[in-house]
Amino acid sequence: MSAATIKAIGILGGTFDPVHCGHLRLAQEVAETLALGEVRFIPGGTPPHRDRPQTPAADRVAMVKLAIADNPLFVLDERETKRAGLSYTFDTLSGLRAEAGATQPLVLIMGADAFLAFDKWHRWREIFSLAHIAVAHRPGTDLSAITDVELARAFAQRRVVDVQALHRAAAGAIAVVPITALDISATAIRAAIHDGRSARYLMPPDVLAYIDSKYLFLKEK
Ligand code: ATP
Repeated sequence: MSAATIKAIGILGGTFDPVHCGHLRLAQEVAETLALGEVRFIPGGTPPHRDRPQTPAADRVAMVKLAIADNPLFVLDERETKRAGLSYTFDTLSGLRAEAGATQPLVLIMGADAFLAFDKWHRWREIFSLAHIAVAHRPGTDLSAITDVELARAFAQRRVVDVQALHRAAAGAIAVVPITALDISATAIRAAIHDGRSARYLMPPDVLAYIDSKYLFLKEK
Protein backbone atom coordinates (compact mmCIF):
# COMPACT_ATOMS: atom_id res chain seq x y z
CA MET A 1 0.00 0.00 0.00
CA SER A 2 1.39 3.43 -0.84
CA ALA A 3 1.56 6.13 1.82
CA ALA A 4 -1.21 8.06 0.06
CA THR A 5 -3.73 5.26 0.64
CA ILE A 6 -3.03 4.66 4.32
CA LYS A 7 -6.01 5.97 6.23
CA ALA A 8 -5.16 8.33 9.03
CA ILE A 9 -5.96 7.24 12.59
CA GLY A 10 -7.70 9.75 14.85
CA ILE A 11 -6.98 9.88 18.57
CA LEU A 12 -9.38 11.46 21.04
CA GLY A 13 -8.10 11.61 24.60
CA GLY A 14 -10.19 12.90 27.46
CA THR A 15 -11.34 12.39 30.99
CA PHE A 16 -14.74 11.24 29.71
CA ASP A 17 -16.31 11.84 33.12
CA PRO A 18 -18.78 11.14 31.57
CA VAL A 19 -18.50 10.75 27.79
CA HIS A 20 -21.21 12.81 26.08
CA CYS A 21 -22.62 13.79 22.67
CA GLY A 22 -20.11 16.65 22.38
CA HIS A 23 -17.31 14.04 22.29
CA LEU A 24 -19.20 11.74 19.94
CA ARG A 25 -20.10 14.43 17.39
CA LEU A 26 -16.54 15.77 17.60
CA ALA A 27 -15.16 12.33 16.71
CA GLN A 28 -17.79 11.62 14.04
CA GLU A 29 -17.52 14.94 12.23
CA VAL A 30 -13.73 15.12 12.32
CA ALA A 31 -13.56 11.51 11.09
CA GLU A 32 -15.84 12.35 8.16
CA THR A 33 -14.16 15.61 7.22
CA LEU A 34 -10.66 14.14 7.39
CA ALA A 35 -11.64 10.69 6.06
CA LEU A 36 -10.10 8.96 9.06
CA GLY A 37 -9.93 5.17 9.09
CA GLU A 38 -10.83 5.03 12.79
CA VAL A 39 -10.99 7.14 15.92
CA ARG A 40 -9.42 5.80 19.12
CA PHE A 41 -11.05 6.97 22.32
CA ILE A 42 -8.39 7.01 25.04
CA PRO A 43 -9.73 7.70 28.55
CA GLY A 44 -7.07 9.26 30.78
CA GLY A 45 -5.74 7.58 33.88
CA THR A 46 -6.74 8.65 37.36
CA PRO A 47 -4.34 11.26 38.74
CA PRO A 48 -3.22 10.73 42.34
CA HIS A 49 -4.47 14.17 43.47
CA ARG A 50 -7.33 16.20 42.08
CA ASP A 51 -9.50 19.00 43.30
CA ARG A 52 -12.55 16.76 43.23
CA PRO A 53 -13.08 13.02 43.56
CA GLN A 54 -12.95 11.55 40.10
CA THR A 55 -15.08 8.73 38.78
CA PRO A 56 -13.01 5.52 38.83
CA ALA A 57 -11.33 4.68 35.54
CA ALA A 58 -13.32 1.43 35.28
CA ASP A 59 -16.59 3.38 35.17
CA ARG A 60 -15.30 5.99 32.71
CA VAL A 61 -14.04 3.19 30.46
CA ALA A 62 -17.35 1.31 30.74
CA MET A 63 -19.26 4.44 29.72
CA VAL A 64 -17.04 5.01 26.67
CA LYS A 65 -17.50 1.36 25.71
CA LEU A 66 -21.28 1.75 25.83
CA ALA A 67 -21.20 5.07 23.97
CA ILE A 68 -19.17 3.81 21.01
CA ALA A 69 -20.47 0.21 20.81
CA ASP A 70 -22.57 0.73 17.69
CA ASN A 71 -20.04 2.75 15.70
CA PRO A 72 -17.59 0.70 13.62
CA LEU A 73 -15.32 3.76 13.21
CA PHE A 74 -14.79 4.12 16.95
CA VAL A 75 -12.34 2.06 19.00
CA LEU A 76 -11.66 2.05 22.74
CA ASP A 77 -8.00 2.18 23.69
CA GLU A 78 -7.34 1.50 27.37
CA ARG A 79 -3.59 2.08 27.44
CA GLU A 80 -3.75 5.12 29.75
CA THR A 81 -6.15 3.68 32.32
CA LYS A 82 -4.17 0.44 32.47
CA ARG A 83 -1.05 2.36 33.43
CA ALA A 84 -0.69 3.49 37.04
CA GLY A 85 -1.07 7.24 37.62
CA LEU A 86 -1.17 9.97 35.02
CA SER A 87 -0.14 9.49 31.41
CA TYR A 88 1.14 12.23 29.21
CA THR A 89 -0.23 12.50 25.69
CA PHE A 90 3.37 12.64 24.48
CA ASP A 91 4.00 9.15 25.91
CA THR A 92 0.73 7.77 24.56
CA LEU A 93 1.48 9.09 21.08
CA SER A 94 5.03 7.72 21.25
CA GLY A 95 3.57 4.29 21.95
CA LEU A 96 1.05 4.58 19.13
CA ARG A 97 3.74 5.78 16.74
CA ALA A 98 5.97 2.82 17.62
CA GLU A 99 3.09 0.43 16.93
CA ALA A 100 1.79 2.10 13.77
CA GLY A 101 5.13 2.70 12.08
CA ALA A 102 6.82 5.84 10.85
CA THR A 103 4.58 6.55 7.84
CA GLN A 104 1.11 6.04 9.35
CA PRO A 105 -0.66 9.41 9.69
CA LEU A 106 -1.88 9.97 13.25
CA VAL A 107 -4.29 12.81 14.04
CA LEU A 108 -4.73 14.05 17.59
CA ILE A 109 -8.27 15.45 17.85
CA MET A 110 -9.14 18.17 20.33
CA GLY A 111 -11.62 20.91 21.02
CA ALA A 112 -10.54 24.53 20.72
CA ASP A 113 -10.46 24.92 24.53
CA ALA A 114 -7.85 22.17 24.76
CA PHE A 115 -5.78 23.65 21.94
CA LEU A 116 -5.62 27.08 23.59
CA ALA A 117 -3.86 25.44 26.54
CA PHE A 118 -1.68 23.19 24.37
CA ASP A 119 1.50 25.10 25.27
CA LYS A 120 1.07 23.81 28.85
CA TRP A 121 1.20 20.18 27.73
CA HIS A 122 4.23 18.04 28.54
CA ARG A 123 6.71 18.17 25.60
CA TRP A 124 4.09 19.85 23.40
CA ARG A 125 6.55 20.94 20.71
CA GLU A 126 7.59 17.32 20.18
CA ILE A 127 3.99 16.22 19.76
CA PHE A 128 4.09 17.78 16.28
CA SER A 129 6.69 15.20 15.27
CA LEU A 130 4.38 12.39 16.41
CA ALA A 131 0.95 13.45 15.11
CA HIS A 132 -1.09 15.99 13.21
CA ILE A 133 -3.62 17.98 15.22
CA ALA A 134 -7.26 18.49 14.31
CA VAL A 135 -8.79 21.37 16.25
CA ALA A 136 -12.56 21.65 16.32
CA HIS A 137 -14.79 24.48 17.32
CA ARG A 138 -16.10 24.47 20.87
CA PRO A 139 -18.73 27.01 21.93
CA GLY A 140 -17.24 29.69 24.12
CA THR A 141 -13.70 29.34 22.77
CA ASP A 142 -12.19 31.58 20.13
CA LEU A 143 -9.12 30.15 18.39
CA SER A 144 -7.80 33.62 17.64
CA ALA A 145 -7.30 34.02 21.39
CA ILE A 146 -4.04 32.00 21.51
CA THR A 147 -1.92 33.87 24.05
CA ASP A 148 1.35 31.95 23.90
CA VAL A 149 3.52 33.48 21.18
CA GLU A 150 5.24 30.22 20.32
CA LEU A 151 1.97 28.32 20.03
CA ALA A 152 0.52 31.11 17.87
CA ARG A 153 3.56 30.85 15.59
CA ALA A 154 3.28 27.06 15.38
CA PHE A 155 -0.42 27.40 14.58
CA ALA A 156 0.25 29.89 11.77
CA GLN A 157 3.10 27.86 10.28
CA ARG A 158 1.56 24.40 10.52
CA ARG A 159 -2.04 25.16 9.62
CA VAL A 160 -3.24 23.48 6.42
CA VAL A 161 -6.41 24.19 4.52
CA ASP A 162 -6.28 21.17 2.21
CA VAL A 163 -7.08 18.23 4.51
CA GLN A 164 -5.42 15.83 2.05
CA ALA A 165 -2.14 17.12 3.47
CA LEU A 166 -2.88 15.07 6.58
CA HIS A 167 -2.80 11.88 4.54
CA ARG A 168 0.40 12.72 2.71
CA ALA A 169 2.52 13.12 5.84
CA ALA A 170 2.62 11.18 9.10
CA ALA A 171 2.59 14.19 11.46
CA GLY A 172 3.16 17.90 11.86
CA ALA A 173 0.13 19.70 10.38
CA ILE A 174 -2.76 21.46 12.10
CA ALA A 175 -6.25 21.38 10.56
CA VAL A 176 -9.13 23.43 11.89
CA VAL A 177 -12.31 21.44 11.42
CA PRO A 178 -15.69 23.13 11.72
CA ILE A 179 -18.19 20.93 13.56
CA THR A 180 -21.74 21.32 14.80
CA ALA A 181 -21.48 23.53 17.87
CA LEU A 182 -22.78 21.62 20.89
CA ASP A 183 -22.36 23.43 24.16
CA ILE A 184 -22.19 20.24 26.22
CA SER A 185 -19.61 19.61 28.92
CA ALA A 186 -19.04 16.83 31.42
CA THR A 187 -18.88 19.49 34.15
CA ALA A 188 -22.40 20.69 33.33
CA ILE A 189 -23.67 17.10 33.16
CA ARG A 190 -22.21 16.25 36.57
CA ALA A 191 -23.76 19.41 37.99
CA ALA A 192 -27.18 18.61 36.52
CA ILE A 193 -27.24 15.10 37.97
CA HIS A 194 -25.88 16.32 41.29
CA ASP A 195 -28.65 18.91 41.47
CA GLY A 196 -31.37 16.41 40.58
CA ARG A 197 -31.91 17.69 37.02
CA SER A 198 -32.13 15.35 34.05
CA ALA A 199 -29.12 14.80 31.77
CA ARG A 200 -31.23 13.07 29.09
CA TYR A 201 -30.34 13.73 25.46
CA LEU A 202 -26.86 14.97 26.32
CA MET A 203 -25.39 11.47 26.00
CA PRO A 204 -26.46 8.08 24.62
CA PRO A 205 -29.24 6.48 26.69
CA ASP A 206 -27.02 3.49 27.59
CA VAL A 207 -24.50 5.83 29.22
CA LEU A 208 -27.23 7.54 31.21
CA ALA A 209 -28.60 4.16 32.30
CA TYR A 210 -25.09 3.20 33.48
CA ILE A 211 -24.79 6.44 35.48
CA ASP A 212 -28.17 5.75 37.08
CA SER A 213 -27.32 2.15 37.88
CA LYS A 214 -24.07 3.15 39.60
CA TYR A 215 -25.48 6.27 41.30
CA LEU A 216 -22.70 8.36 39.78
CA PHE A 217 -22.48 12.13 40.33
CA LEU A 218 -25.22 12.18 42.98
CA LYS A 219 -25.05 14.37 46.04
CA GLU A 220 -22.94 12.82 48.82
CA LYS A 221 -25.19 11.63 51.62
P1 ATP B 1 -14.96 18.57 31.79
O1 ATP B 1 -16.19 19.44 31.71
O2 ATP B 1 -14.99 17.57 32.93
O3 ATP B 1 -13.67 19.36 31.75
P2 ATP B 1 -15.22 17.92 28.96
O4 ATP B 1 -16.67 17.89 28.67
O5 ATP B 1 -14.44 19.14 28.53
O6 ATP B 1 -14.95 17.61 30.50
P3 ATP B 1 -13.06 16.14 28.27
O7 ATP B 1 -13.09 14.68 28.51
O8 ATP B 1 -12.20 16.96 29.13
O9 ATP B 1 -14.60 16.63 28.32
O10 ATP B 1 -12.77 16.48 26.74
C1 ATP B 1 -11.99 15.67 25.88
C2 ATP B 1 -11.82 16.40 24.56
O11 ATP B 1 -13.10 16.61 23.94
C3 ATP B 1 -11.17 17.79 24.67
O12 ATP B 1 -10.28 17.96 23.56
C4 ATP B 1 -12.34 18.74 24.55
O13 ATP B 1 -11.96 19.98 23.98
C5 ATP B 1 -13.27 17.99 23.61
N1 ATP B 1 -14.67 18.32 23.82
C6 ATP B 1 -15.42 18.01 24.91
N2 ATP B 1 -16.67 18.47 24.78
C7 ATP B 1 -16.74 19.07 23.56
C8 ATP B 1 -17.80 19.76 22.84
N3 ATP B 1 -19.01 19.91 23.38
N4 ATP B 1 -17.50 20.24 21.61
C9 ATP B 1 -16.24 20.09 21.08
N5 ATP B 1 -15.22 19.48 21.71
C10 ATP B 1 -15.46 18.97 22.93
